[in-house]
Amino acid sequence: AFEGLTERLQKAMRNLRGKGKVSESDLRKTMREIRLALLEADVNFSVVRKFVKTVQERAKGADVLEGLNPAQQIVKIVDEELTKTMGEEATPLNKSEKIPTVIMMAGLQGAGKTTTAGKLSLKLKNEKDARPLLIAADIYRPAAIDQLEQVGKEIDVPVFQKGTDVDPIEIVKQGMQVAKENHNDYVLIDTAGRLQIDEKLMDELKNIKELTHPDEILLVVDAMTGQNAVNTAEGFNDALDITGVVLTKLDGDTRGGAALSIREVTQKPIKFIGQGEKMDALDVFHPDRMASRILGMGDILSLIEKTQKDYDEKEAQKLTEKMQNNTFGFEDFLDQLNQIQKMGPLEDIMKMIPGMANNPALKNINMDPKDLEHIKAIIYSMTKEEKDNPDLLNPSRRRRIARGCGRPIQEVNRMIKQFNQMKTMMNKMSKGNMSGMENMLGN
Ligand code: GDP
Ligand code: MG
Repeated sequence: AFEGLTERLQKAMRNLRGKGKVSESDLRKTMREIRLALLEADVNFSVVRKFVKTVQERAKGADVLEGLNPAQQIVKIVDEELTKTMGEEATPLNKSEKIPTVIMMAGLQGAGKTTTAGKLSLKLKNEKDARPLLIAADIYRPAAIDQLEQVGKEIDVPVFQKGTDVDPIEIVKQGMQVAKENHNDYVLIDTAGRLQIDEKLMDELKNIKELTHPDEILLVVDAMTGQNAVNTAEGFNDALDITGVVLTKLDGDTRGGAALSIREVTQKPIKFIGQGEKMDALDVFHPDRMASRILGMGDILSLIEKTQKDYDEKEAQKLTEKMQNNTFGFEDFLDQLNQIQKMGPLEDIMKMIPGMANNPALKNINMDPKDLEHIKAIIYSMTKEEKDNPDLLNPSRRRRIARGCGRPIQEVNRMIKQFNQMKTMMNKMSKGNMSGMENMLGN
């Protein structure tokens, strides 16, 4: 996501790099480019205006123009203001004092309501030991009920449904009764959507709201729809006074407009983001992490969390030492590849490393899982000595390895070259002289 925006923001700020002093006109030029980058990313016009004004004022007020590292200070201001625009801090899900907590999903057709209802139920089950009940209140498409049943089965959460012939309000009423009898602590109501906001849909949603007094009305919007998502959010919020937003499909190639505008326009928090079709692809929305991601500084916090889950600390310590001493060999590389493969799609992982999102070196690294297998095959064809001592790999050894693994010699050469580049970069990073911000600015 955000590729275009990230690139343009970085470019806008790269102009300032290496300048001991930033002139008024440099700053104005940078601000103009930031403004265009945001508009092109489909950020709401008034959000852009306010953002640019604030950054500009802060940049002047902070004596950035006289500062030692003006470029870095401006990046920091932009990062902080992006965070503020998206709401500053993560906003937790509301919870009622008496069970059940009622969560009503709302949104246009295809936004991801049904999927998100499932994902959220699973999250509540896993993280709060909850016993949720899903209510199928979208009766307009028979497939919608089947879909929710499917979801319920997959995550082992009961679904209350009455087919398509009973009025949604009546279904919800009966579902609430069932939840009461079974002492479910959460009820998630999956409602119908339309292609566009219309009065009939809004009336139905208002009636469900009146009946259940939800603790949470989560508006689900598709991040891919940019400015439309923002207009939709405004419309739903006017009618229903929503309590929060779920931004879905952030795994896709979104331009960033929705993420950056919705909070400002509706004054309602984005609570979760959907990042895939699978049931575990729902994450708490952290404005600061999203800002770093938009700036291409990498979502290092997410990476650390993810790594901590899958990775032993001692191993990490050993690895850091090897990186520092520059004794990182192919055997370690192989370990890393295996670890990374366990963690998920390689592109996603690499993009979370600071400075990697738009690192040109990354563009040369092949991310196809098949290529990973080839890399492994090449390493398996090395002797132990060669793995520990990559410098030994002269042309004749490389030819032998190529024959051994059945890969072309060019591929072997390329892989070794990439390995050496990576090793150099890791060595630098491990010595702490390459923070995400510096790396991004290329200093
Ligand atoms: P609803 O009409 O609002 O209930 O939307 P659905 O839950 O049926 O979702 C519509 C489509 O979007 C389905 O194919 C989902 O798998 C897909 N979808 C939902 N959330 C995400 C997401 O976060 N990422 C991706 N890639 N697809 C999603
Ligand atoms: Mg649905």
